[in-house]
Amino acid sequence: MTVQDESEQTAREEAAGKLFSGPVDFLLSAPQLQFLPDPVVPEIAFCGRSNVGKSSLLNALTGRRAIARASVTPGRTQELNFFDVGRPEEGDPLPLFRLVDMPGYGFAKAPVKVVGRWKTLVKSYLRGRAVLARTLVLVDSRHGLKHTDREMMTMLDEAAASYRVVLTKTDKIKASELEAVANRTADEIRKHVAAYPELHLTSAEKGMGIAALRAAVVSDALGEGWAG
Ligand code: GDP
Repeated sequence: MTVQDESEQTAREEAAGKLFSGPVDFLLSAPQLQFLPDPVVPEIAFCGRSNVGKSSLLNALTGRRAIARASVTPGRTQELNFFDVGRPEEGDPLPLFRLVDMPGYGFAKAPVKVVGRWKTLVKSYLRGRAVLARTLVLVDSRHGLKHTDREMMTMLDEAAASYRVVLTKTDKIKASELEAVANRTADEIRKHVAAYPELHLTSAEKGMGIAALRAAVVSDALGEGWAG
């Protein structure tokens, strides 16, 4: 990165930090497609296996302690949860964009019916949502990509829904192991047509990679020129 690139990146991260320190409000929970909010602002969706650290990452990004609750019984939550971020102007009814917390997948011993319902909901959302600006696929850095992550990525490829892959809990493994899993994952995502080539390394616990991911989310939602 050149010095100018670096200062632009710092400016983007600061502006994104400011945006997320403004209003972030739970909007609604949609158990079925007919309950989705009107598609009027850009949406950034978050998905990953149960226990990947999705709630922790959403809380870290928004700088709140408990915007997203970890599910008490993994695999039981089958809703898409929508959060409004930012207000263009005081009193404006619409937010700048929305975060969408998708139900976790890959849980052990889930009844076939539950998995079927999950697939139908997620697939229809991904295919039909014109305002979906980007999806973030979270992957536990201790495990790397698993079968269900590959299924999710293929589903996104088929829906032509572009996504970023985010490694979580990077504080839990040694630097050498992190480098190996990051290289392996980066090699594999290059084969996926809708995957963004850059991999994000994050730790919600230690804050690593959070500011950069915040800036990426905001520019995905609002376009490259949003900060200036
Ligand atoms: P979710 O089911 O995907 O929403 O996962 P949670 O956010 O509830 O996290 C699952 C578990 O991983 C919890 O015990 C978290 O405290 C832990 N966890 C999440 N993110 C991190 C992280 O960045 N570092 C560490 N060390 N633990 C984390």
